[in-house]
Amino acid sequence: MYCRADEVSIQLMLKAFHHFSEVTGLLGNMEKSSFYVAGVTEEFKNLILSEMHFTLGEFPFKYLGVPLSTKKLSIVQCMPMVERIIARIKCWTTKFLSYSGRFQLIKSVQFEMHTYWAHVFLLPKKIIHMVTAACRTFLWTGSTEMSKRSLVSWEKLYMPGSAGEKELQHNVNTKASRIIRKVFDTKEWFKAISETGDINEFCKQGKFSIKTMYIAARPQFQKVTWKNLVLRDVTIPRHRFILWLTLNQRLATVNRLAKWKIDVPKECVLCTSQKEETIGHIFFECAYARSIWAALVGWLKEKYNVGSWEQELKWLIKRTNSSRPRAQVLTFLFAATVYYTWMERNKRRFQNQCITYAEKVREIALQLHIKGQNRSKWKSMLEQLDRYPNENNV
Ligand SMILES: [Zn+2]
Repeated sequence: MYCRADEVSIQLMLKAFHHFSEVTGLLGNMEKSSFYVAGVTEEFKNLILSEMHFTLGEFPFKYLGVPLSTKKLSIVQCMPMVERIIARIKCWTTKFLSYSGRFQLIKSVQFEMHTYWAHVFLLPKKIIHMVTAACRTFLWTGSTEMSKRSLVSWEKLYMPGSAGEKELQHNVNTKASRIIRKVFDTKEWFKAISETGDINEFCKQGKFSIKTMYIAARPQFQKVTWKNLVLRDVTIPRHRFILWLTLNQRLATVNRLAKWKIDVPKECVLCTSQKEETIGHIFFECAYARSIWAALVGWLKEKYNVGSWEQELKWLIKRTNSSRPRAQVLTFLFAATVYYTWMERNKRRFQNQCITYAEKVREIALQLHIKGQNRSKWKSMLEQLDRYPNENNV
């Protein structure tokens, strides 16, 4: 129970409390009850104490699981939260997770920080940096040992999906808890984003639209041409993540590894051409990925000649510029081609295992049918694809 720290308020509250006890027969346990007060003189405090017979409690204490304090939480007090998050990451690191799996888990950490911690507390900046560093390391290396290596900068992960980025929640504000900050900043914020200062600017059919205002307020990023390939939920998340890295030219091919001073044999492991492994070579100069992709587009009775990465991308963007089943299936197959080719490259390079492209084509075909099971729109199209792709379409 809360009340103002003056005599009248306290007496009224106690009266109500006693009345409640009389009516219901429920009594307060004085041993388990404490009394907290702040912002009053020592004399007044003693006066209330002698009247109320409660024991005096001390800040900070836990209320409904949340520590209450009269001051901003110190870094030491926040450390349990950081430790909890790192402990959780540690338990994840023992499992073999894909990038997209790890990304999903990080989203949940961020979400928890927003919905629980940042709403109640003013989190110190350092704490947020510590959590971010732990998340970043975990995403790119899968471990908790701090490393600065990352394929895509962390800031980019906050940009919207249509700008070719993964959309993480925006950073927790460090100055005030989110709700308080929102209330105080709204006026200034509104002035800054509005061109005319008139609220009607954000109205739709006479009603204020939060969406319109949000769009006006959000930083504008240039949209990428390939946004449909990674925004739609038609691909498997782990395929989508690898495709997104490839589209950002961020796959760790040997030419990129060389920049990090990691020395590995330069030749492509997927073919016998002895050419340097680059994204351009793998997709689709190299026979391996080209054969998979050619077999799959041939399966859909699409074009037979597979060109360069840029040509294929351009063609694909045009063909997938709708939400028709065919566009979705093509997107699925493209993401799967990129993913399985990259996995094969990793297996050959690091595990000395080797699977032929024909087997991959069959695997992708099966994956497509599995994905299609809960997509009624794909049904008639998948019925026509009742045989394995012809692998000799190259
Ligand atoms: Zn090759």
